[in-house]
Amino acid sequence: MIVREQFYIGGQWVAPGGSETIEVHRAGDGAVMGRVPAGTAKDIDAAVRAARAALEAWSALPVAERAAFLQKISDGLKARAEELAKTIAQEVGMPIRMAARIQAGLPIANFANYARIAGEFKFEERVGNSLVVREPVGVVGAITPWNYPLHQIALKVAPALAAGCTVVLKPSEVAPFNSFILAEVIAAAGLPKGVFNLVTGLGQTVGEALVGHPQVDMISFTGSTRAGKRISEVAANTVKRLALELGGKSASVILEDSDLAAAVKSTVGNCYLNSGQTCTALTRMLVPESKYAEAAKIAAEVAGGFTVGDPLAETTKLGPLSSAAQLERVRGYIRKGQQEGAELLAGGADAPEGVPAGGYYVKPTVFGKVKPGSTLEQEEVFGPVLSIVTYRDEEDAIRIANDTPYGLAGAVWSKDEARAQRVARRIRAGQIDVNGGAFNMNAPFGGFKQSGHGREAGVYGLEEFLEYKSLQLKG
Ligand code: NAD
Repeated sequence: MIVREQFYIGGQWVAPGGSETIEVHRAGDGAVMGRVPAGTAKDIDAAVRAARAALEAWSALPVAERAAFLQKISDGLKARAEELAKTIAQEVGMPIRMAARIQAGLPIANFANYARIAGEFKFEERVGNSLVVREPVGVVGAITPWNYPLHQIALKVAPALAAGCTVVLKPSEVAPFNSFILAEVIAAAGLPKGVFNLVTGLGQTVGEALVGHPQVDMISFTGSTRAGKRISEVAANTVKRLALELGGKSASVILEDSDLAAAVKSTVGNCYLNSGQTCTALTRMLVPESKYAEAAKIAAEVAGGFTVGDPLAETTKLGPLSSAAQLERVRGYIRKGQQEGAELLAGGADAPEGVPAGGYYVKPTVFGKVKPGSTLEQEEVFGPVLSIVTYRDEEDAIRIANDTPYGLAGAVWSKDEARAQRVARRIRAGQIDVNGGAFNMNAPFGGFKQSGHGREAGVYGLEEFLEYKSLQLKG
């Protein structure tokens, strides 16, 4: 049992104002893994005051010193990488080896990357008679989800600290333990008190208290589009800056001249990453009508190779979902797909066999002939469920790819690279993989349309936390 009873506020571990707690369940067997305090608006107020008090001195620190702290945090996380991977594999359900590389590896890399970026960034420039300076936006409230919990935290906390902002973090109540490890690492790194603060609790209570707090200058949120809309409403009252990284329903557009087997295999793998609990998951595979039968056969075969099991077992390729609520939701979508007349090519709503009892497991599922406009084609499932949609021609494919409220990611496949790029430019989404191009941690990450606004990662992520100021000079 992991029992956390205190928040990290003003450089100290302090008791929460209330006595409520939140139980955290292990994805692999549903057992109670531990608990964290359920904060209140009072706890948020204390954390925001601490962050406000620390702001002036932190933002005045030479950037090289802030960068040195970020490097220390990266080193501290690295020293606890194994513990982080194991903790997150249990909280979220991602298979352990992948969790080590992604869930622990990416945050370590991002803190180090922001140490470098901060050191290289030009914080001021001359424009005519003006000196244009970049200043930290102020106190940042960071609200994060459970699917890549520490990665989402790192993409906010590292650039915010690099920019000179101070932070109050409200992590996901579903996967909070990793954030306590981060707070311990930050404390050990000797960060000045109040620069980073951690309060756990529910979205509607502590989350909204943070968003509505008049002393918070910016909210950086990653999570569902539903919560993003509510946060926009609450933030409007104090005209806060908002960065929203929300949901997706991304399309992999396989053109008829592509290497079909490679494209289908890659799309299925992408869709099933983290059991489909990935905001950029390529959940709609668009294939030409003439290639449907072949694509369906390959997709079903590839899905069958995803061994479902305990996230801590080395042989597991597909772990469980993160919570009982997710399990119900995903099964509901699978049943809905069947009711809507889609062809079930692999998997289904029944529990898979041979998995630990009590865990939140779903079969790797593929639906064929999914109708454009149907629920399964339009809504974010957040589980290992791929929808194959057929199209007539290139124009039709682009229209279908763009015809959802989302615009987070996508992929295009064609042996003709120029054609693939042309189609990629016409998809209204923040990042498009062309012929399987790799993830780039320095490229901007974020969405069009209801996938949000603002960008994370690389230098673009740092700029989110800066204001412009123009000093009009006489000489
Ligand atoms: P969620 O929206 O339920 O919760 C995210 C966070 O917001 C949690 O910390 C939660 O406590 C908090 N929250 C919820 N309601 C709130 C409110 N009214 N006010 C303030 N805070 C509130 O999302 P989730 O279930 O944790 O995560 C899954 C969602 O996140 C998916 O839709 C996924 O696509 C999205 N996501 C997006 C990205 C991206 O970068 N675009 C990355 C990861 C996940």
